[in-house]
Amino acid sequence: MLINGEWIEKSSQKLESINPATGGVNHEVAAADKSQVDDAVASAKAAVAKPAWRNMLPHVRAGILHKIADGMTANSEKFARLQMMENGKVWSECVAQVASAAASFRYYAGVCETLGSEVTPSRGNYLSMTVYEPYGVITAITPWNSPMTMEAQKVAPALAGGNAVILKPSEVTPSPALELGRIALAAGLPPGILNVLPGTGAVTGAALVEHKDVRMVSFTGGTESGRRIAEVAARKLMPVGLELGGKSPHILFADADIKAAIASVSGGIFEGTGQSCVAGSRLFVQKAIHERVVEELTKVAKSLKVDLPDAPGAQMGPLASFPHRDKIEKMVNDAKLAGARIFTGGTRPDDSRLAKGSFYLPTLIGGVDNRAAIAQQEIFGPVLVIIPFEDEEDLIAQANDSAFGLASGIWTADYRRAWRVARRLEAGTVWINTYKQLSVATPFGGFKDSGIGREKGISGVRLYQQSKGIYFGMEG
Ligand code: NAD
Repeated sequence: MLINGEWIEKSSQKLESINPATGGVNHEVAAADKSQVDDAVASAKAAVAKPAWRNMLPHVRAGILHKIADGMTANSEKFARLQMMENGKVWSECVAQVASAAASFRYYAGVCETLGSEVTPSRGNYLSMTVYEPYGVITAITPWNSPMTMEAQKVAPALAGGNAVILKPSEVTPSPALELGRIALAAGLPPGILNVLPGTGAVTGAALVEHKDVRMVSFTGGTESGRRIAEVAARKLMPVGLELGGKSPHILFADADIKAAIASVSGGIFEGTGQSCVAGSRLFVQKAIHERVVEELTKVAKSLKVDLPDAPGAQMGPLASFPHRDKIEKMVNDAKLAGARIFTGGTRPDDSRLAKGSFYLPTLIGGVDNRAAIAQQEIFGPVLVIIPFEDEEDLIAQANDSAFGLASGIWTADYRRAWRVARRLEAGTVWINTYKQLSVATPFGGFKDSGIGREKGISGVRLYQQSKGIYFGMEG
């Protein structure tokens, strides 16, 4: 772990980094115990108060963020490999995610040196301003599905905003965060401004959230973990940013460009082996085209290349962990018992080369309605539930009948309908005739149980700052 610019290998706790494609152990990682959390917070608190960081001019701070991006790019293969061997994502996706993470550092370098304070309209003989200040010590807690992009998405704006960050990566994917710590130190970030503490949520994560000197939590992960963190935050009166789960509706009207839509539906659920918060996991198809869509999508799902993540042309790797596959198998089996129809998949691949990994086939499920457990619960795997709908009203009622509200997609040739439906969907993102387009420049977050607050965009830096009003009296 990285505390105050020093690498610490000793700890009472250890994590095993496991390769889900083979079941082999990559390496062991020291996990932070409670006293190490205390050390990390103390070092961050001291570092954030030092003039070297507090008074660092924005363009100089931006220079460090650029250097971190340079370091990530120069070490792209290493980052990609670390992620691939811990969460099993296919190589091309891992490489793309390093580029996306580096781009987030560049974007927030730009924001850091250009976003200013405001002079507010005066209502008397004074000059009033709003300035923005860091919270101080914040913690960033990340999941395993896209560790590098999530970590960059939090660490870059939090540093741009002037904070010290304690990064707690998922216990499944500790290694890219440690590499980020190494790159940040080499880029000239003062010791203690970024500490990296691998560990479990129950020990390391909980101790960080509870710590009295941690003044803000930025969390991405499951809804139940987010709820627990929000409960602690409520007691501490501490702000939180929560990016949580989803069960996003992907909608096909009968007038859609079906060929393009099917390719997008397949990518929207099967890329990353379905382990994406914005996975389009409920497919709503207008009745007139339901049969055709099921048929064509089944063909596409059957044709996907499920393989070792570094195999040439692999389109789906394993699930990120064995317990996660167990959970998905149980959900699909329960759905079968409850009467669901499996159009394709629903099992592990029958390929001896993949037998030691946590692989699972792309799965299409029908014969259930939107109230079924398989249509309501987040699966976070390559499992798509297909549900027919009658008309716009029926669609809106079903699509919004979900605890979640993260993302959604609409395929139609009628732009008026696209607009009407987009405005009525309860979701933080709506894609029209596209899916899973994500940009650091556009704020992102969830409605309902999918979260609180918005990351990304210029205002993303404000998540990590508090405003202060300053008045200069002008009398006399
Ligand atoms: P998780 O909630 O189990 O864990 C996420 C992180 O939180 C891990 O680092 C974990 O150690 C930590 N954690 C867990 N309980 C904690 C606690 N009580 N206190 C402090 N830290 C705690 O989630 P996961 O299984 O790693 O990730 C999958 C989930 O993440 C899915 O629900 C997915 O939808 C969600 N996700 C959301 C987004 C988004 O942007 N909305 C993006 C990616 C993933």
